[in-house]
Amino acid sequence: MERIYNFSAGPSMLPISVLKEAQKQMLNYNNSGMSVMEMSHRSKVYEEIINGAESVLRDIMAISENYSVLFLQGGASSQFAMVPLNLYSENKTADYVNTGSWAIKAIKEAKRYGTVNVVATSEDTNYNRIPALDKSKFNPKADYFHITTNNTIEGTRFTAIPDTGDVPIVADMSSNILSEVYDVSKFGLIFAGAQKNMGPAGVTLAVIRKDLLGKALDITPTMFNYKTHADENSMYNTPPAFGIYICKLVFEWVKEMGGVAALQKINEEKARILYDYLDESKMFRGTVEKKDRSLMNITFVSANKELDAKFIKEAVSNELIELKGHRLVGGMRASIYNAMPTEGVIKLANFMRKFEAEN
Ligand code: PMP
Repeated sequence: MERIYNFSAGPSMLPISVLKEAQKQMLNYNNSGMSVMEMSHRSKVYEEIINGAESVLRDIMAISENYSVLFLQGGASSQFAMVPLNLYSENKTADYVNTGSWAIKAIKEAKRYGTVNVVATSEDTNYNRIPALDKSKFNPKADYFHITTNNTIEGTRFTAIPDTGDVPIVADMSSNILSEVYDVSKFGLIFAGAQKNMGPAGVTLAVIRKDLLGKALDITPTMFNYKTHADENSMYNTPPAFGIYICKLVFEWVKEMGGVAALQKINEEKARILYDYLDESKMFRGTVEKKDRSLMNITFVSANKELDAKFIKEAVSNELIELKGHRLVGGMRASIYNAMPTEGVIKLANFMRKFEAEN
């Protein structure tokens, strides 16, 4: 069977060259006589892999030396607890922007350990936009300010990073890391699950400003303390070794593609193809306010639920899969992360056009 165009929200497509490289090295990595899955994480050969992953990531994201790069486990969902446990260091209070499902989960965890001030929410419009931020609502004494840069389920993204003064910004970048250029120095902490733009599920990335380390609440479990992992180069315990190796290959692929800026251009073009069609279509429409549209997760609906279901079913027969929207939002969602080729997006747009003409 040919490779299929998979529009899943994550895990999602990986670059074919990365998969082929991993295949080539599967039985015998670099003349070690074994696969990466079988080698000791303390071995020299593995050390080169994890250090290489970090160094290429630092390069493509322009991460300076005053940040630690951590390869963790537990998914971005564990970060929802790890963030407050580590950063509620002064006043045990944080500002959060409620932009939908993942922000809600993050808020719920943070409330266990301190006070959450929701500075803005788009709940009133079912999270179809990024709410306007009123700086006078920001708490200057907050320990941190949390945003979800891209909202995977709702299909929105922040197009500007708020100015929070001295309050460190914590960003959940799970679904748009490496898809557009960010100035890392604007953030205190960036975290992301790997399974969209970086590699297989099981690796969770955290990039944390070093001055924020070492202030965790006393109750913080050792494994949930960023400092534990920063001090041990992400090797306090056995890291998700194979996943980190695939991430390294993906980081190298990003670099070969011309870096994040080059991918951003491609991503903008891919998203434009779909949004332009949605704007001209008489059958489909995008569900999100235009100014806040995600480049990664394109959410849309047709005239009714029956037609949505028919569309999703016929798409599968055309080798366009995983287009069903999240159950909380309904309709359709096309997730077009870095590894989704432009041809896949064009094929989807053409299929939508044909479907509209026939129905
Ligand atoms: N935050 C965002 C924005 C996400 O999209 C996801 C996963 N889809 C998560 C957090 C949770 O990630 P994980 O499944 O790795 O815990």
